[in-house]
Amino acid sequence: MAKPRRSKMMSLKLPFLLTLFLALSQAQPHSDDPPPPPSSNVCVIGAGIGGSSVAHFLRKYSPSSTPSTKIRVFERNGRVGGRIATVTVAGETFEAGASILHPKNLHTVDYVKILKLKVKEPTASEDSLSLGIWDGNKFVFKTVSPLSSTVPLIDKLLKLPFVNTLVSFVNSALMFVRYGFSLFKMQNFVEIAVDKFVKYYEDPGSRPIFETVDEMLQWAGLYNLTTRTLRDELVDAGLSTSLINELVTVITRINYGQSVSMSGLGGVVSLAGSGGGLWSIEGGNWQMAAGLINQSDVALHLHEEIKSVADLGDYYELNSTKGNSYRCEVAVVATPLDELDIQFIPPISIPERKLQHTFTTFVRGLLNPAYFGLKAVTKIPDLVGTIEDPELPFSCIAVLKKHNEKESTYKLFSRQPMADTLLDSIFR
Ligand SMILES: Cc1cc2nc3c(=O)[nH]c(=O)nc-3n(C[C@H](O)[C@H](O)[C@H](O)COP(=O)(O)OP(=O)(O)OC[C@H]3O[C@@H](n4cnc5c(N)ncnc54)[C@H](O)[C@@H]3O)c2cc1C
Repeated sequence: MAKPRRSKMMSLKLPFLLTLFLALSQAQPHSDDPPPPPSSNVCVIGAGIGGSSVAHFLRKYSPSSTPSTKIRVFERNGRVGGRIATVTVAGETFEAGASILHPKNLHTVDYVKILKLKVKEPTASEDSLSLGIWDGNKFVFKTVSPLSSTVPLIDKLLKLPFVNTLVSFVNSALMFVRYGFSLFKMQNFVEIAVDKFVKYYEDPGSRPIFETVDEMLQWAGLYNLTTRTLRDELVDAGLSTSLINELVTVITRINYGQSVSMSGLGGVVSLAGSGGGLWSIEGGNWQMAAGLINQSDVALHLHEEIKSVADLGDYYELNSTKGNSYRCEVAVVATPLDELDIQFIPPISIPERKLQHTFTTFVRGLLNPAYFGLKAVTKIPDLVGTIEDPELPFSCIAVLKKHNEKESTYKLFSRQPMADTLLDSIFR
């Protein structure tokens, strides 16, 4: 049998909303200030969705009468998109970073329209993927798999929409039997928080301009979530221990590689990412960043890493690894500050935060049923989630595509890199 083909990636996972932006802006204009200089340079460090959005909104909100503002975007890699990226495994392309978008992520909904991108709707069988919760010895909970048959005609019948609906119905019933009304409490908890997030989309003219992230969170009523763990929030919301320790834990481990001891705010973002209506973009979500940059009249500097940012009073001086120097009236750091390799002059204070790295491993092959104590690979759920146990070597394993009976492409998330010997035991 062909050896599974693998590719590994190391990534730092942070929620879109929490990615830190440091806008270093010289003198905020006051009504009695002199008019702005005839032209200005804005330098953006990072061509991820943050940096590309900055370029887009700067153009959108700059009055057309403003004299030419030059926007430069610096990107240390040779491509835009940052942690929205695809990976090619054995000739097929899959999302490696941000793979799903929330229906209430209204900026992205807008980008798709402006950039005329095509939304990729999940197929009926993708919608009814089976889930199993693995504790290291057994599946403590399993939903039923979409039905299939090796006889083509029967297989076609089993793929009919009503059969999928039936499968979904059975799975909802199974969930209800295990977790009861706690499921509705969880849904309610998430809906309340998402409604608070949506407030940020209000027209900037009708809501305050925030000076700090704390202020921004206070305004929407989300700040308290940052001071408590997700577990404490969910206990107060009346969720059962089994729902918190199983399904909720599976979700936080999939989305952030963390347990329910994570921050309540990150936790609620994570839970929102497991709801319905999630979507993605045909051809790759990175096209949003590429499209915004293309549209925004930007000078894009690929393969150019910024090494230092010096505040020289009237302007900032940015120096790059290429030995170039740039003078900018405004500098935006559109990349997480935590692991940044930029020298700030004078130095700035970056509060220390503990981060969880997520390692992503792609495998084309077939899972080994014996690893899960099963006789047939068909008995393994499409999405294997895990409970919180330090002994477990992976957070989740998901089927990305079933090529045939002998080969599928899988994505694994883990807190440590997956050793080859371990992969050899999980896959056959
Ligand atoms: C595995 C994974 C799965 C995820 N899944 C989802 C999901 O399903 N849905 C979702 O909404 N979000 C998801 N996320 C989160 C989402 O990808 C990020 O929140 C978002 O992409 C962050 O965008 P950003 O522009 O703030 O930062 P980044 O994407 O990190 O962009 C920063 C850019 O800055 C560049 N850079 C850094 N330093 C310098 C320098 N000194 N000079 C020049 N360039 C520099 C970097 O190369 C990078 O391109 C996921 C993230 C990961 C890693």
